[in-house]
Amino acid sequence: MIFVLRPGSPRKEIEALTGQIESWGFTTFLSTGTEHTVVCLLGNTAVIDVDAVVQNNDIIEYGRRVTEPYKAVNRTVHPEDTIVNAGGIMIGPGMFQVIAGPCSVESEVQIIEVARSVQASGATLLRGGAFKPRTSPYSFMGLQEEGLRLLLRAKKETGLPVVTEIMNQTQLPLFEDIDVIQIGARNMQNFDLLREVGRFGRPVLLKRGLANTLEELLMSAEYIMSAGNSQVILCERGIRTFETATRNTLDISAIPLLKQKSHLPVIVDPSHASGLRGLVAPLARAAVAVGADGLMIEAHNDPAQALCDGAQSLDLGQFKNLMDELKRRVAFEGKKIGAA
Ligand code: PEP
Ligand code: MN
Repeated sequence: MIFVLRPGSPRKEIEALTGQIESWGFTTFLSTGTEHTVVCLLGNTAVIDVDAVVQNNDIIEYGRRVTEPYKAVNRTVHPEDTIVNAGGIMIGPGMFQVIAGPCSVESEVQIIEVARSVQASGATLLRGGAFKPRTSPYSFMGLQEEGLRLLLRAKKETGLPVVTEIMNQTQLPLFEDIDVIQIGARNMQNFDLLREVGRFGRPVLLKRGLANTLEELLMSAEYIMSAGNSQVILCERGIRTFETATRNTLDISAIPLLKQKSHLPVIVDPSHASGLRGLVAPLARAAVAVGADGLMIEAHNDPAQALCDGAQSLDLGQFKNLMDELKRRVAFEGKKIGAA
């Protein structure tokens, strides 16, 4: 349930209202837009008489039941698009940001070469896995803490904000200087982790699980937001279907649907969605056309020698060519790549 307040409602009266609602046993969440403040009630609101609450409180313009189970991420609660500040790079309306870099940080030479090159090509954030979730316990697990250190070296060298994956909440103290914390597909429903990154307060890139519905993705974002962190970016990265020709199946409908249902920015990862280098550019074009707020693309200085996901990684020349093309397409959409 939400109550939309009259513009200019005094702070004191808003606090009195939320205090009253909380005394009934509900948790409240305030969503402050450019014009309206919305009080969002979390809990079993079936017992509340909406009209009575509206009649009894002059600062309320109207109240409405929100039927979806997600509240804070719901566009009804926050009609304007959310802007996520990812280390100074804005992800949201009017912008199109490209996160690029290798699947895994492999060495100082590698990550710095890739960082410099993708930056020169126009990428606005650097990715690189330090803690890698791998299907096989015998695969390369990433350089772990050393990987984070090298990623931060590349950040220092280029000024690019960095995105990297966390595997569990005990790692959070290591992520102090990381600009965007990635929650990977395999952890999308790790509810303890979602709550802890919600409390940590750093922007979160939340990837859709391999076999999760859009409602489940939004509910996971709800965990992060209800823990106090509204800086969440959703990422469509392909789902498992019966098709085996591609690593996953890019659910292109997910992008406009998520944007209709939620105010959070949505980006697309065509690399993990397809698993095939040759499909990254066409799927990236589709992402721009369908209204995504950005892309996450794997790029490597020597994909043939990559320790992880080489087959889907663009080499640095291919990444540059793609960026040259994307810049034109993004401009056509009336959006901008780069700082706001
Ligand atoms: C990744 O981005 O490195 C990754 C492991 O992706 P996903 O969680 O989408 O598989
Ligand atoms: Mn990868």
